[in-house]
Amino acid sequence: MPRDRVVIVGAGIAGLVSAFSLAARGLEVTLVERGAAPGGKMRQIGIGGSRIDSGPTVFTMRWVFDELFAAVGKNFSDHVRLRPLDTLARHAWGGTDRFDLFADETRSVESIGDFAGAAEAARYRNFCSDTRRIYDMLEQPFLRASRPSMSGLIGANGFRGLTRLPQIKPFSSMWSALSQYFHDPRLRQLFGRYATYCGSSPFKAPATLMLVAHVERQGVWSIDGGMHGLARALAGSAEALGASIRYNEEVAEVLIPGGRARGIRLASGECIEADSVIMNADVAAVAGGLFGSKARRAAAAIPPHARSLSALTWSVVAKADGFPLRRHNVFFSRDYAAEFDDIFNRNSLPREPTVYVCAQDRDGDAGFKPAEEKLMILVNAPANGDRHSYGAAEVEQCARRTFGVLERCGLRIQRRPEATEVTTPTDFNRLFPATGGALYGRSSHGWTASFQRPGARTRVQGLYLAGGSTHPGPGVPMAALSGRSAAACLMEDLGSISQSPKTAMSGGMSMR
Ligand SMILES: Cc1cc2nc3c(=O)[nH]c(=O)nc-3n(C[C@H](O)[C@H](O)[C@H](O)COP(=O)(O)OP(=O)(O)OC[C@H]3O[C@@H](n4cnc5c(N)ncnc54)[C@H](O)[C@@H]3O)c2cc1C
Repeated sequence: MPRDRVVIVGAGIAGLVSAFSLAARGLEVTLVERGAAPGGKMRQIGIGGSRIDSGPTVFTMRWVFDELFAAVGKNFSDHVRLRPLDTLARHAWGGTDRFDLFADETRSVESIGDFAGAAEAARYRNFCSDTRRIYDMLEQPFLRASRPSMSGLIGANGFRGLTRLPQIKPFSSMWSALSQYFHDPRLRQLFGRYATYCGSSPFKAPATLMLVAHVERQGVWSIDGGMHGLARALAGSAEALGASIRYNEEVAEVLIPGGRARGIRLASGECIEADSVIMNADVAAVAGGLFGSKARRAAAAIPPHARSLSALTWSVVAKADGFPLRRHNVFFSRDYAAEFDDIFNRNSLPREPTVYVCAQDRDGDAGFKPAEEKLMILVNAPANGDRHSYGAAEVEQCARRTFGVLERCGLRIQRRPEATEVTTPTDFNRLFPATGGALYGRSSHGWTASFQRPGARTRVQGLYLAGGSTHPGPGVPMAALSGRSAAACLMEDLGSISQSPKTAMSGGMSMR
């Protein structure tokens, strides 16, 4: 029996997960990636002898990967070494205002009590139980579903589901809901920042996204070899299961003769035939026609105003002193509303940004004083990298503001130009074409936004979507769920085709 063939476009986390799952099920898998390495946004930048994670750094929801490996009789921890972090993040608002959030709820309650008083600590407990409930209500019918559907959400709980809908808080903004939980504006800002994990503004995102707080309480891990190590481990495991991965190859078109995806054409002109295609490039690229006019039908366009956040990042090896860094550190701007107004309404870099610093050599809470260390520094930015070119002067101005925020909080970073690599929205747009540099697909603004992300199945038979711009959304584990979903839908559809006497796949095809 010839094996069913699948081509996967893109070795982002979703593409890798699809490749791993389908190779394990015996399909002939070819994964094509335009970059030189797996991971997509989970990339590393080399500076001197150091490799710096310059994409995602916060690893959560490890159960997604535990389940993925267990489903094929393997153990995730045999392939990737994880270390749980006690301190989720250290937060600073100035020279003395500092606050640590812990994975352990009781420890955080004590920490909030010391920082903002007993009443605020009690309110945090309510926040924890409400965010836990939101997460529990959504995991099965929404996060694990192959497409977003209101009826799926409600249906899982029947009429009770409809009456319980307000409990997931879709209709109020995150910021207004947080104002009810927290009287201390610093804590509103801290928890409001979770909207940015979905590339959104806390002033526009639904309060449902507060569930990210629960996700982090379930655990944040560091990965030996960095986040990119996860991509390499998955690529290696997929190859060991028989998948073939071709790097440095750009896919120019999805071939759709007779309305069914039948393979792809590379920029080199070579065609690879397949029975199905999984697309891991951004939805915006598909809708924008980068994979041919026929493939456009598979996804609706994301208009520029609906794009999620981009970022401006500095990957550096530098000496950092004056502030006791943890692995994850956040230095807040003084006016959060103005920051998001700058980005989403004025389409410009924030006049005073909130700055995230990932100190990648730091794991536990123990004191650590290296001469120089690996840092990834990130500020949020508008996704206008296709319409605006970020030149040296603008980047330098942003650097002054960014490092100024850090210095206001006591942190001095002695950057050397030869040990610094900057990535702007223009660069992100080059890396992820047609996105404008948006890193998280469509923004999650308004309660309907999450329902506008496409699911795994598309209007084009045999063409599936997977990745952070699809359902259930961005973030490494969420994109992984979408990759798993695409693989599952594809298997299901192949099953139903092979049982059908009149299959569209019988009789061969020409690749024109
Ligand atoms: C700076 C930054 C920080 C982040 N922080 C976090 C974090 O801390 N935690 C977290 O969970 N998430 C974080 N994220 C989000 C997370 O990285 C993404 O949601 C996730 O990695 C997206 O994966 P994906 O499957 O959509 O694929 P992508 O990573 O988008 O990869 C898509 C792949 O497709 C390839 N491709 C595109 N077009 C073609 C073509 N024509 N031919 C061949 N290949 C093609 C691309 O080269 C790329 O490798 C962050 C992202 C960034 C950029």
